[in-house]
Amino acid sequence: MIKFLDLQSQYASLRGEMDPAIAGILRDATFIGGAPVQAFEREFAAYQQAKHCIGVANATDGLEIALEALDLPKGSEVIVPANSFIASSEAVTTAGYRVVFADADPVTYGLDPRDVERRITPRTSAIILVHLYGQPADLGAFLEIAKRHKLRLIEDAAQAHGAEWEGRRVGAIGDIGVFSFYPGKNLGAYGDAGAIVTNDDALAQRSRMIANHGRLDKYNHRFEGRNSRLDTLQAAVLSVKLRHLDAWIDQRNAIARVYLNELAGLDWLTLPGSRAAVRHAYHLFVVRTSERDRLQAHLASHEIQTGVHYPISLPKLQAYDYLGQGSEPMHANRLDVQLLSLPIGEHLTEADARVVTEAVRAFRA
Ligand SMILES: *Cc1c(COP(=O)(O)O)cnc(C)c1O
Repeated sequence: MIKFLDLQSQYASLRGEMDPAIAGILRDATFIGGAPVQAFEREFAAYQQAKHCIGVANATDGLEIALEALDLPKGSEVIVPANSFIASSEAVTTAGYRVVFADADPVTYGLDPRDVERRITPRTSAIILVHLYGQPADLGAFLEIAKRHKLRLIEDAAQAHGAEWEGRRVGAIGDIGVFSFYPGKNLGAYGDAGAIVTNDDALAQRSRMIANHGRLDKYNHRFEGRNSRLDTLQAAVLSVKLRHLDAWIDQRNAIARVYLNELAGLDWLTLPGSRAAVRHAYHLFVVRTSERDRLQAHLASHEIQTGVHYPISLPKLQAYDYLGQGSEPMHANRLDVQLLSLPIGEHLTEADARVVTEAVRAFRA
């Protein structure tokens, strides 16, 4: 069986470091805040080359807190990708702003800067870009658009820990960025967890206060915030895993290279496009074919697990019927039935990847 995700084997490989780290938290009985949270925030800020890191309960909260911290004008429109997970757009609504979907680039499936620019109105205040599948978005174009139209830039880096754009780690290149440590992400906790990163001191302080009841010290609440903190246990887990992340990303790239080499030239299968001058984190390896469902069933019959990201474009979800963007002729509204995520991760060997490529090739041999 070639698994899509294998957290059991990951834990088995980490046990010697993980068990004492968790036991230490239980022994100290510090479950909220404390040195392990501060240590992880410091380590992750350094890893992402950001001045500040604020641990939060999950990335969905993180996006909402980032939007609140930016304090956009009431009624603002925020442009988000049509091809993403719902958290990217959900946060806009829960923070009190209006969602405007922009299309996916047909080669990388990430947010298309040209379509973003077409959708800017006098009410637009921010763009949430997603470093989709672990590949840095076209940050050069987005930074330029944000500057020219005076928009704030939020990086949804939930899939892109360690990814680099022109030699810089993503997350704090725009105004503020958000990471998810959902267990299945490239850096995953043992439950929900997330982080906000930024180089802006004021945004960092506001985000930290919003996430902790509007306070900096124990009972001095400057405003009403919420409770969205990174658990101490999760921080300890993440500190252990962070030491392995670069090796895991390298292994993901090795698997991707096998896929790109061995699947090149098939006229019925489109491989993912990659941008120059980036370090791709390869959270997902997404291929495209008009026979997606049949290919997925074929691979399942060869005991190869695959995934679909995402089966319904965001504008076509019932939750967004009110926007009427589901019937727009966007790439994103057509790609959702063609994309298939092949298994990728540090649990796989290059030999496993060749088993996958042989099965894919056999589908139309
Ligand atoms: C996973 C994910 C999120 C949400 O992360 P949570 O920590 O589960 O809230 C947001 N955006 C993207 C692009 C994601 O993949």
